[in-house]
Amino acid sequence: MAALPPADLGLLTPHFQKISFEPDAMLVRSGDELDQVYFPHSHSGAIAFMVAMPNGQTVATTLMGREGALASLSVLGPSRSSVTAIARVAGTASRISAAKFRFAYARSAAIRHVVQVHARTLLLQLQHVAACNALHRVEGRMARWLLQIHDRVPDDVLPLTQEALAQLLGVRRTTVTLTMSKLRVAGAIRSDRRGFVEVDRTRLESVACECYALMRRRIDRMSCQELSAPRLALALCQESSFVTSGEGGEDHAEIKAASPVRK
Ligand SMILES: [Zn+2]
Repeated sequence: MAALPPADLGLLTPHFQKISFEPDAMLVRSGDELDQVYFPHSHSGAIAFMVAMPNGQTVATTLMGREGALASLSVLGPSRSSVTAIARVAGTASRISAAKFRFAYARSAAIRHVVQVHARTLLLQLQHVAACNALHRVEGRMARWLLQIHDRVPDDVLPLTQEALAQLLGVRRTTVTLTMSKLRVAGAIRSDRRGFVEVDRTRLESVACECYALMRRRIDRMSCQELSAPRLALALCQESSFVTSGEGGEDHAEIKAASPVRK
């Protein structure tokens, strides 16, 4: 929304309905028709895209906050969701019917551009998470999810239960308890009390696998170059790395840095 000129935004805002979502709220269920598009806009708020297995196990594939729009790909035509979208951190959003969003998308080149950039950043996140889940150990992956959540909470205290972490990671609660104790020893988690995890971001970054930094840099660079706005509003778009570096050369270095290493 912030990347749209006023006239284009004006195609959407008359149809917005403000909503709030609480942790564990299911915004879209797998198999549901994508009939609403959600624009989270509170500084605090995170929605996880979850895949559930027939045996009840779940794992997260993507996390989204106010930098994104849930179900924006409904512009491709009426379709059903392949994932379940669950609020992990409470927040507020504006909601518009998918039909009205498709109408605005057809009329506005700016909206089409923003949706296309958003789709590319989502795909990028999906690819990194897929690689991370296959190649990296649970401590690194937990640190990555905690950093991704921290990006969407303006505080070092993350409202997050062990159960929610188990669902994100696709592991048992006992594994979460063990992994959190390792992160606590490393100083990356300062404390955890019922439903809250206090993190030390610098130390968390040092124990996370390389996926977080890699994903973050690529997404911020794409957002800065395409939308003149950092996706997560933390990086500065005027940083020379976003403006002057070519996609190809740096990616080559990044791929070397991301070569599969089991810790
Ligand atoms: Zn990783």
